[in-house]
Amino acid sequence: MLSNYRGRFAPSPTGPLHLGSLVSALASYLDAKYHQGTWVIRIEDVDAVRCRPEFTQQILTTLNSYQLISDEDIRLQSEHSTLYETHLTALKQSHNVFPCNCTRQSLKEFSGLHPHICSSDITSPHSWRLKTNNEHYQYNDLIQGEMAFFDDLSNNHPILKRKDGYFSYQLAVVVDDHLQDITHLIRGADLIETTAQQLHLYTLLGWQAPQIGHIPLVVNQDNEKISKQNHAKPILNGDLHTLKRALSYLQIEVNESSNIKEALALAISKWNPLLLAKQKSIAITAEDLPFI
Ligand code: GLU
Repeated sequence: MLSNYRGRFAPSPTGPLHLGSLVSALASYLDAKYHQGTWVIRIEDVDAVRCRPEFTQQILTTLNSYQLISDEDIRLQSEHSTLYETHLTALKQSHNVFPCNCTRQSLKEFSGLHPHICSSDITSPHSWRLKTNNEHYQYNDLIQGEMAFFDDLSNNHPILKRKDGYFSYQLAVVVDDHLQDITHLIRGADLIETTAQQLHLYTLLGWQAPQIGHIPLVVNQDNEKISKQNHAKPILNGDLHTLKRALSYLQIEVNESSNIKEALALAISKWNPLLLAKQKSIAITAEDLPFI
């Protein structure tokens, strides 16, 4: 019988899946299945400048080839802009956002961050930024343990809607996780810093935040995230060896499995996030260097 647990994997289709993103997909899937929960895929394609439909297709084909299949229809954020607008309007009405026509040039002295509340007018192109007010947020991360920070952690008022009209990840992720009744977020530790701002948004919108766990990030030899920006190689589709390598970063060995289905079933039974506790990153092994 299914439990109330609802988890998700929410890739941004800015490139094909690489080893690091397969590790994240597996962690959210295994945690959901270990708890007899529902696991859904959501495509975070709000940023039409960086996201491409062909990458969405490629990502879904790859996930499918590893039998990581959404239990419900796949949600595309690009189809829900009106919904994000509604919630932005609510934040405008409660004076929790402000318009901003600062330029990259004018924010140069703050290294691109936006530490102050500016007085911009809305007659010229403007973004909408979230007001942050030094509130102290803490939560018990399912993997990293007790976390505490201020919501303006990096002394920044994040953008919720850009000048070009696209919504930001921060607003869309909170709205969708809430509307999809997501109870557990298991994702990479590179997103820890966004958590305080997301908890702030949950509070402002009067919603209960999901439980959150950040798995260690797979990093290259220079301690950088393996990412599309670092030209990480796309993974092969349906390759048992790749699956075993990805699982090994989650401290799971499935050497005895001879196909993907078997390996996944064994991995669910062996899933133990406590083995990953309090590590923010795991260095890529020499064996995997050719794959990044
Ligand atoms: N879409 C985000 C990414 O691809 C992940 C969102 C999340 O897990 O909160 O980095």
